[in-house]
Amino acid sequence: MRVLVINSGSSSIKYQLLDPVSGTVAASGMVSRIGEPVEPGAVTVEHDSDGHTLEHDGAIADHAAGLRVVFDLFAQSGHDLTGEGLYAVGHRVVHGGEVFYRPTLINDAVVRSIDELSALAPLHNPANVVGIESVRRLLPDVPQVAVFDTAFFHGLPDAAKTYAIDAKVAAAQGIRRYGFHGTSHEYVSGRVAEVLGRDASTVNQIVLHLGNGASASAIRGGRAVDTSMGLTPLEGLVMGTRSGDIDPGIIAHLMRTADFDIDAIDQLLNRNSGIKGLSGVNDFRELQRLIDTGDRAASLAYEVYIHRLRHYIGAYLVELGEVDAITFTAGVGENSPQVRADALAGLTRFGITVDPIRNAAKDRAARYISPPDAQIPVLVVPTNEELAIARAATALVT
Ligand code: AMP
Repeated sequence: MRVLVINSGSSSIKYQLLDPVSGTVAASGMVSRIGEPVEPGAVTVEHDSDGHTLEHDGAIADHAAGLRVVFDLFAQSGHDLTGEGLYAVGHRVVHGGEVFYRPTLINDAVVRSIDELSALAPLHNPANVVGIESVRRLLPDVPQVAVFDTAFFHGLPDAAKTYAIDAKVAAAQGIRRYGFHGTSHEYVSGRVAEVLGRDASTVNQIVLHLGNGASASAIRGGRAVDTSMGLTPLEGLVMGTRSGDIDPGIIAHLMRTADFDIDAIDQLLNRNSGIKGLSGVNDFRELQRLIDTGDRAASLAYEVYIHRLRHYIGAYLVELGEVDAITFTAGVGENSPQVRADALAGLTRFGITVDPIRNAAKDRAARYISPPDAQIPVLVVPTNEELAIARAATALVT
Protein backbone atom coordinates (compact mmCIF):
# COMPACT_ATOMS: atom_id res chain seq x y z
CA MET A 1 0.00 0.00 0.00
CA ARG A 2 1.45 3.39 -0.98
CA VAL A 3 0.44 7.01 -0.51
CA LEU A 4 1.90 9.98 -2.39
CA VAL A 5 2.35 13.04 -0.18
CA ILE A 6 2.64 16.44 -1.85
CA ASN A 7 3.77 19.70 -0.26
CA SER A 8 3.45 22.52 -2.81
CA GLY A 9 5.12 25.85 -2.16
CA SER A 10 4.96 28.95 -4.32
CA SER A 11 8.01 27.89 -6.37
CA SER A 12 8.64 24.34 -5.19
CA ILE A 13 7.04 20.93 -4.71
CA LYS A 14 8.31 18.42 -2.15
CA TYR A 15 6.98 14.88 -2.39
CA GLN A 16 7.27 11.41 -0.92
CA LEU A 17 5.88 8.04 -1.95
CA LEU A 18 5.59 6.00 1.22
CA ASP A 19 3.95 3.12 3.04
CA PRO A 20 1.60 4.69 5.61
CA VAL A 21 1.86 1.73 7.96
CA SER A 22 5.60 1.11 8.17
CA GLY A 23 6.64 4.61 7.09
CA THR A 24 9.05 3.11 4.54
CA VAL A 25 9.79 5.69 1.85
CA ALA A 26 9.88 4.24 -1.69
CA ALA A 27 10.91 7.52 -3.31
CA SER A 28 11.08 11.21 -2.51
CA GLY A 29 12.24 14.42 -4.07
CA MET A 30 11.85 18.07 -4.74
CA VAL A 31 11.06 20.34 -7.69
CA SER A 32 12.55 23.79 -7.23
CA ARG A 33 12.58 27.18 -8.97
CA ILE A 34 9.17 26.65 -10.60
CA GLY A 35 8.31 29.50 -12.96
CA GLU A 36 11.79 31.00 -12.76
CA PRO A 37 14.33 31.36 -15.54
CA VAL A 38 17.32 29.11 -14.84
CA GLU A 39 20.83 28.97 -16.26
CA PRO A 40 21.56 26.08 -18.69
CA GLY A 41 22.26 22.82 -16.88
CA ALA A 42 20.77 23.97 -13.56
CA VAL A 43 19.22 21.04 -11.69
CA THR A 44 15.55 21.77 -10.94
CA VAL A 45 14.27 18.33 -9.92
CA GLU A 46 16.02 15.87 -7.62
CA HIS A 47 14.45 12.45 -7.16
CA ASP A 48 15.73 9.87 -4.67
CA SER A 49 14.74 6.24 -5.00
CA ASP A 50 16.38 3.15 -3.49
CA GLY A 51 19.57 5.03 -2.66
CA HIS A 52 19.94 6.53 -6.16
CA THR A 53 19.39 10.14 -7.11
CA LEU A 54 17.98 11.06 -10.52
CA GLU A 55 18.17 14.67 -11.65
CA HIS A 56 16.39 16.80 -14.20
CA ASP A 57 17.82 20.06 -15.44
CA GLY A 58 16.16 22.96 -17.20
CA ALA A 59 13.42 25.45 -16.46
CA ILE A 60 10.10 24.25 -15.01
CA ALA A 61 7.28 26.43 -16.37
CA ASP A 62 4.62 25.66 -13.76
CA HIS A 63 3.52 23.12 -11.13
CA ALA A 64 1.87 20.83 -13.71
CA ALA A 65 5.06 20.71 -15.78
CA GLY A 66 7.06 19.97 -12.62
CA LEU A 67 4.76 17.11 -11.70
CA ARG A 68 5.00 15.63 -15.21
CA VAL A 69 8.79 15.51 -14.79
CA VAL A 70 8.32 13.91 -11.35
CA PHE A 71 6.01 11.24 -12.80
CA ASP A 72 8.63 10.49 -15.52
CA LEU A 73 11.34 10.17 -12.86
CA PHE A 74 9.09 7.84 -10.84
CA ALA A 75 8.69 5.67 -13.97
CA GLN A 76 12.45 5.72 -14.65
CA SER A 77 13.10 4.57 -11.09
CA GLY A 78 10.67 1.68 -11.43
CA HIS A 79 7.49 3.21 -9.95
CA ASP A 80 4.74 3.86 -12.49
CA LEU A 81 2.53 6.17 -10.44
CA THR A 82 -0.46 5.82 -12.71
CA GLY A 83 -0.31 2.03 -12.45
CA GLU A 84 1.13 1.83 -8.93
CA GLY A 85 -2.17 1.11 -7.21
CA LEU A 86 -1.81 4.34 -5.24
CA TYR A 87 -4.11 4.31 -2.25
CA ALA A 88 -4.40 8.08 -1.93
CA VAL A 89 -2.63 11.37 -2.45
CA GLY A 90 -2.21 13.50 0.68
CA HIS A 91 -1.73 17.25 0.22
CA ARG A 92 -0.33 19.51 2.91
CA VAL A 93 -2.50 22.64 2.99
CA VAL A 94 -1.33 25.53 5.12
CA HIS A 95 -4.49 27.39 6.09
CA GLY A 96 -7.81 25.72 6.86
CA GLY A 97 -9.34 28.82 8.46
CA GLU A 98 -12.50 28.16 10.47
CA VAL A 99 -13.72 25.86 7.70
CA PHE A 100 -11.39 22.86 7.78
CA TYR A 101 -10.24 21.24 10.99
CA ARG A 102 -9.83 17.63 10.00
CA PRO A 103 -8.39 15.80 6.97
CA THR A 104 -10.82 16.38 4.11
CA LEU A 105 -11.52 14.45 0.92
CA ILE A 106 -10.87 16.83 -1.96
CA ASN A 107 -13.56 17.74 -4.48
CA ASP A 108 -14.24 20.89 -6.52
CA ALA A 109 -16.01 22.64 -3.63
CA VAL A 110 -13.13 21.89 -1.23
CA VAL A 111 -10.60 23.30 -3.72
CA ARG A 112 -12.72 26.45 -4.05
CA SER A 113 -12.88 26.86 -0.27
CA ILE A 114 -9.12 26.42 0.10
CA ASP A 115 -8.68 29.06 -2.59
CA GLU A 116 -11.09 31.41 -0.80
CA LEU A 117 -8.92 31.12 2.32
CA SER A 118 -6.01 32.61 0.35
CA ALA A 119 -6.74 36.02 1.87
CA LEU A 120 -5.57 34.55 5.20
CA ALA A 121 -2.49 32.86 3.70
CA PRO A 122 -1.55 34.68 0.49
CA LEU A 123 1.95 33.20 0.43
CA HIS A 124 0.79 29.59 0.84
CA ASN A 125 -2.79 28.61 -0.07
CA PRO A 126 -2.64 29.66 -3.76
CA ALA A 127 0.38 27.36 -4.26
CA ASN A 128 -1.43 24.54 -2.44
CA VAL A 129 -4.40 24.95 -4.80
CA VAL A 130 -2.22 24.87 -7.93
CA GLY A 131 -0.51 21.70 -6.65
CA ILE A 132 -3.81 20.00 -5.86
CA GLU A 133 -5.31 20.85 -9.25
CA SER A 134 -2.23 19.61 -11.12
CA VAL A 135 -2.20 16.27 -9.29
CA ARG A 136 -5.96 15.83 -9.73
CA ARG A 137 -5.52 16.20 -13.49
CA LEU A 138 -2.65 13.71 -13.58
CA LEU A 139 -4.26 11.15 -11.24
CA PRO A 140 -8.02 11.63 -11.71
CA ASP A 141 -8.94 8.23 -10.28
CA VAL A 142 -6.95 8.41 -7.03
CA PRO A 143 -8.65 9.86 -3.92
CA GLN A 144 -6.98 13.09 -2.81
CA VAL A 145 -7.00 14.30 0.77
CA ALA A 146 -6.14 17.74 2.17
CA VAL A 147 -4.41 17.80 5.56
CA PHE A 148 -4.37 21.24 7.17
CA ASP A 149 -1.50 22.78 9.10
CA THR A 150 -3.97 24.69 11.27
CA ALA A 151 -6.24 21.75 12.16
CA PHE A 152 -4.58 20.65 15.42
CA PHE A 153 -5.10 24.16 16.84
CA HIS A 154 -8.74 24.55 15.84
CA GLY A 155 -9.92 23.95 19.39
CA LEU A 156 -7.62 26.45 21.14
CA PRO A 157 -9.34 27.94 24.18
CA ASP A 158 -10.90 31.36 23.53
CA ALA A 159 -8.38 33.13 25.76
CA ALA A 160 -5.48 31.72 23.72
CA LYS A 161 -6.95 32.27 20.28
CA THR A 162 -8.39 35.77 20.71
CA TYR A 163 -6.43 38.92 19.87
CA ALA A 164 -7.25 41.91 22.04
CA ILE A 165 -8.36 44.11 19.14
CA ASP A 166 -11.81 45.52 18.32
CA ALA A 167 -13.95 42.39 18.43
CA LYS A 168 -16.15 43.53 15.53
CA VAL A 169 -13.17 44.06 13.23
CA ALA A 170 -11.71 40.70 14.24
CA ALA A 171 -15.00 38.87 13.62
CA ALA A 172 -15.57 40.54 10.25
CA GLN A 173 -12.07 39.70 9.02
CA GLY A 174 -11.64 36.20 10.53
CA ILE A 175 -8.81 37.49 12.72
CA ARG A 176 -7.86 35.02 15.47
CA ARG A 177 -4.86 32.90 16.35
CA TYR A 178 -5.03 29.82 14.08
CA GLY A 179 -1.58 28.24 14.66
CA PHE A 180 0.52 26.30 12.14
CA HIS A 181 2.84 23.26 12.00
CA GLY A 182 -0.14 21.44 13.54
CA THR A 183 0.60 18.17 11.75
CA SER A 184 4.07 18.17 13.29
CA HIS A 185 2.93 19.16 16.80
CA GLU A 186 0.23 16.47 16.73
CA TYR A 187 2.55 13.76 15.40
CA VAL A 188 5.41 14.58 17.78
CA SER A 189 3.17 14.88 20.85
CA GLY A 190 1.68 11.48 20.00
CA ARG A 191 5.17 9.96 19.73
CA VAL A 192 6.13 11.55 23.07
CA ALA A 193 3.21 9.78 24.75
CA GLU A 194 4.38 6.49 23.17
CA VAL A 195 7.95 7.02 24.39
CA LEU A 196 6.69 7.86 27.89
CA GLY A 197 4.52 4.72 27.72
CA ARG A 198 1.37 6.70 28.55
CA ASP A 199 -1.92 7.49 26.93
CA ALA A 200 -1.72 10.89 25.18
CA SER A 201 -4.85 12.01 27.01
CA THR A 202 -2.91 11.92 30.30
CA VAL A 203 0.16 13.89 29.18
CA ASN A 204 0.76 17.66 29.49
CA GLN A 205 3.57 18.74 27.24
CA ILE A 206 5.48 21.48 25.49
CA VAL A 207 6.60 20.82 21.89
CA LEU A 208 9.25 23.04 20.32
CA HIS A 209 9.26 22.72 16.52
CA LEU A 210 12.49 24.50 15.58
CA GLY A 211 13.13 24.37 11.85
CA ASN A 212 13.47 27.12 9.29
CA GLY A 213 9.97 28.04 10.45
CA ALA A 214 9.60 27.64 14.21
CA SER A 215 6.72 27.31 16.65
CA ALA A 216 6.02 26.21 20.20
CA SER A 217 2.88 24.57 21.52
CA ALA A 218 1.37 23.78 24.90
CA ILE A 219 -0.67 20.56 24.87
CA ARG A 220 -2.91 19.41 27.70
CA GLY A 221 -4.02 15.80 27.55
CA GLY A 222 -3.63 15.54 23.78
CA ARG A 223 -5.35 18.87 23.01
CA ALA A 224 -3.47 22.02 22.04
CA VAL A 225 -4.15 24.83 24.50
CA ASP A 226 -1.70 27.38 23.14
CA THR A 227 0.69 27.95 20.26
CA SER A 228 3.12 30.64 19.25
CA MET A 229 1.99 31.18 15.63
CA GLY A 230 -1.11 33.24 15.02
CA LEU A 231 -3.28 34.49 12.19
CA THR A 232 -0.28 33.77 9.97
CA PRO A 233 2.95 31.80 10.49
CA LEU A 234 4.73 35.07 11.29
CA GLU A 235 3.99 35.35 15.01
CA GLY A 236 6.00 33.87 17.84
CA LEU A 237 9.53 32.52 17.80
CA VAL A 238 12.46 33.99 15.88
CA MET A 239 12.76 31.99 12.63
CA GLY A 240 15.17 31.60 9.71
CA THR A 241 13.84 34.65 7.84
CA ARG A 242 10.72 35.63 9.86
CA SER A 243 10.72 38.07 12.75
CA GLY A 244 8.28 36.31 15.04
CA ASP A 245 6.78 38.67 17.66
CA ILE A 246 7.34 42.37 17.17
CA ASP A 247 5.60 45.47 18.45
CA PRO A 248 2.88 45.96 15.81
CA GLY A 249 3.59 49.69 16.14
CA ILE A 250 6.76 49.07 14.11
CA ILE A 251 4.60 48.58 11.01
CA ALA A 252 2.83 51.94 11.31
CA HIS A 253 6.16 53.58 12.14
CA LEU A 254 7.82 52.22 8.97
CA MET A 255 4.83 53.17 6.81
CA ARG A 256 4.78 56.68 8.22
CA THR A 257 8.46 57.48 8.41
CA ALA A 258 10.23 55.24 5.88
CA ASP A 259 7.67 54.98 3.06
CA PHE A 260 7.26 51.23 3.41
CA ASP A 261 4.19 49.95 1.57
CA ILE A 262 2.46 46.71 2.52
CA ASP A 263 4.56 44.57 0.15
CA ALA A 264 7.76 46.02 1.59
CA ILE A 265 6.49 45.23 5.12
CA ASP A 266 5.64 41.66 4.06
CA GLN A 267 9.07 41.25 2.49
CA LEU A 268 10.81 42.69 5.55
CA LEU A 269 9.02 40.58 8.16
CA ASN A 270 8.69 37.30 6.22
CA ARG A 271 11.90 37.18 4.20
CA ASN A 272 14.49 39.60 5.56
CA SER A 273 14.07 39.27 9.31
CA GLY A 274 14.73 36.60 11.94
CA ILE A 275 18.18 35.01 11.97
CA LYS A 276 18.81 36.27 8.43
CA GLY A 277 17.86 39.85 9.19
CA LEU A 278 20.18 39.95 12.19
CA SER A 279 23.15 37.97 10.85
CA GLY A 280 22.90 37.81 7.04
CA VAL A 281 22.42 34.01 6.95
CA ASN A 282 19.26 32.00 7.59
CA ASP A 283 20.71 28.51 7.87
CA PHE A 284 21.53 27.58 11.46
CA ARG A 285 24.68 25.69 10.51
CA GLU A 286 26.04 28.78 8.77
CA LEU A 287 25.06 30.87 11.80
CA GLN A 288 27.07 28.56 14.04
CA ARG A 289 30.08 28.83 11.69
CA LEU A 290 29.87 32.64 11.83
CA ILE A 291 29.64 32.58 15.63
CA ASP A 292 32.77 30.39 15.72
CA THR A 293 34.64 33.05 13.71
CA GLY A 294 33.74 35.66 16.34
CA ASP A 295 31.01 37.43 14.32
CA ARG A 296 29.16 39.66 16.82
CA ALA A 297 26.02 40.05 14.70
CA ALA A 298 25.70 36.26 14.47
CA SER A 299 26.11 35.91 18.25
CA LEU A 300 23.42 38.53 18.82
CA ALA A 301 21.06 36.71 16.41
CA TYR A 302 21.59 33.52 18.41
CA GLU A 303 21.03 35.31 21.72
CA VAL A 304 17.77 36.87 20.49
CA TYR A 305 16.64 33.45 19.19
CA ILE A 306 17.29 31.76 22.55
CA HIS A 307 15.80 34.66 24.53
CA ARG A 308 12.49 34.39 22.64
CA LEU A 309 12.46 30.61 22.90
CA ARG A 310 12.91 30.72 26.68
CA HIS A 311 10.16 33.32 26.91
CA TYR A 312 7.67 30.86 25.37
CA ILE A 313 8.92 27.89 27.39
CA GLY A 314 8.38 29.91 30.57
CA ALA A 315 4.92 31.00 29.47
CA TYR A 316 3.83 27.46 28.65
CA LEU A 317 5.23 26.02 31.90
CA VAL A 318 3.05 28.47 33.80
CA GLU A 319 0.07 27.94 31.53
CA LEU A 320 0.16 24.15 31.89
CA GLY A 321 1.09 24.18 35.59
CA GLU A 322 2.09 20.55 35.46
CA VAL A 323 4.33 19.47 32.61
CA ASP A 324 5.18 15.84 31.82
CA ALA A 325 7.58 16.44 28.90
CA ILE A 326 9.40 19.10 26.91
CA THR A 327 10.33 18.02 23.39
CA PHE A 328 12.56 19.40 20.64
CA THR A 329 11.88 18.60 16.98
CA ALA A 330 12.59 19.72 13.35
CA GLY A 331 15.93 20.68 11.74
CA VAL A 332 17.39 22.82 14.52
CA GLY A 333 15.59 21.09 17.41
CA GLU A 334 16.74 17.64 16.30
CA ASN A 335 20.29 18.61 15.39
CA SER A 336 21.55 21.39 17.63
CA PRO A 337 22.58 20.23 21.14
CA GLN A 338 23.68 23.81 21.82
CA VAL A 339 20.20 25.25 21.21
CA ARG A 340 18.61 22.56 23.40
CA ALA A 341 21.08 23.14 26.23
CA ASP A 342 20.76 26.94 26.09
CA ALA A 343 16.97 26.87 25.83
CA LEU A 344 16.70 25.01 29.15
CA ALA A 345 19.84 26.22 30.98
CA GLY A 346 19.52 27.11 34.67
CA LEU A 347 16.09 25.54 35.20
CA THR A 348 17.11 22.70 37.52
CA ARG A 349 15.08 24.12 40.38
CA PHE A 350 12.00 23.83 38.14
CA GLY A 351 12.77 20.12 37.64
CA ILE A 352 14.27 20.66 34.16
CA THR A 353 17.79 19.42 33.39
CA VAL A 354 19.53 18.50 30.14
CA ASP A 355 22.10 15.70 30.45
CA PRO A 356 25.19 16.80 28.45
CA ILE A 357 26.14 13.30 27.28
CA ARG A 358 22.63 12.30 26.25
CA ASN A 359 22.17 15.69 24.61
CA ALA A 360 25.35 15.32 22.55
CA ALA A 361 24.51 11.80 21.29
CA LYS A 362 24.07 11.65 17.52
CA ASP A 363 21.06 9.39 17.44
CA ARG A 364 18.25 9.60 14.88
CA ALA A 365 15.69 7.89 17.12
CA ALA A 366 13.25 9.50 19.57
CA ARG A 367 15.17 9.75 22.84
CA TYR A 368 15.52 11.33 26.27
CA ILE A 369 18.12 14.04 26.78
CA SER A 370 17.30 14.58 30.48
CA PRO A 371 18.92 12.42 33.18
CA PRO A 372 17.06 9.19 34.10
CA ASP A 373 15.79 10.66 37.40
CA ALA A 374 14.61 13.98 35.91
CA GLN A 375 11.38 15.41 37.28
CA ILE A 376 10.35 16.68 33.82
CA PRO A 377 11.59 14.48 30.96
CA VAL A 378 13.20 16.36 28.06
CA LEU A 379 13.17 14.59 24.69
CA VAL A 380 14.26 14.86 21.08
CA VAL A 381 11.66 13.37 18.73
CA PRO A 382 12.19 13.55 14.95
CA THR A 383 9.12 14.94 13.26
CA ASN A 384 7.63 13.23 10.21
CA GLU A 385 4.89 15.35 8.67
CA GLU A 386 4.81 13.21 5.50
CA LEU A 387 4.05 10.06 7.48
CA ALA A 388 1.38 11.87 9.50
CA ILE A 389 -0.23 13.17 6.29
CA ALA A 390 -0.04 9.72 4.65
CA ARG A 391 -1.70 8.14 7.70
CA ALA A 392 -4.40 10.80 7.87
CA ALA A 393 -5.15 10.34 4.16
CA THR A 394 -5.28 6.57 4.54
CA ALA A 395 -7.58 6.73 7.55
CA LEU A 396 -10.03 8.92 5.64
CA VAL A 397 -10.05 6.82 2.48
CA THR A 398 -10.28 3.43 4.22
P1 AMP B 1 13.63 22.26 8.76
O1 AMP B 1 12.85 23.48 8.38
O2 AMP B 1 13.00 21.45 9.83
O3 AMP B 1 14.10 21.45 7.58
O4 AMP B 1 14.99 22.81 9.44
C1 AMP B 1 15.92 23.58 8.72
C2 AMP B 1 16.91 24.20 9.69
O5 AMP B 1 17.58 23.14 10.43
C3 AMP B 1 18.02 24.99 9.01
O6 AMP B 1 18.21 26.22 9.68
C4 AMP B 1 19.23 24.11 9.19
O7 AMP B 1 20.40 24.86 9.24
C5 AMP B 1 18.95 23.45 10.51
N1 AMP B 1 19.82 22.28 10.66
C6 AMP B 1 19.83 21.17 9.92
N2 AMP B 1 20.84 20.34 10.33
C7 AMP B 1 21.45 20.98 11.36
C8 AMP B 1 22.57 20.66 12.23
N3 AMP B 1 23.24 19.52 12.10
N4 AMP B 1 22.89 21.57 13.19
C9 AMP B 1 22.21 22.73 13.32
N5 AMP B 1 21.16 23.07 12.53
C10 AMP B 1 20.79 22.22 11.58
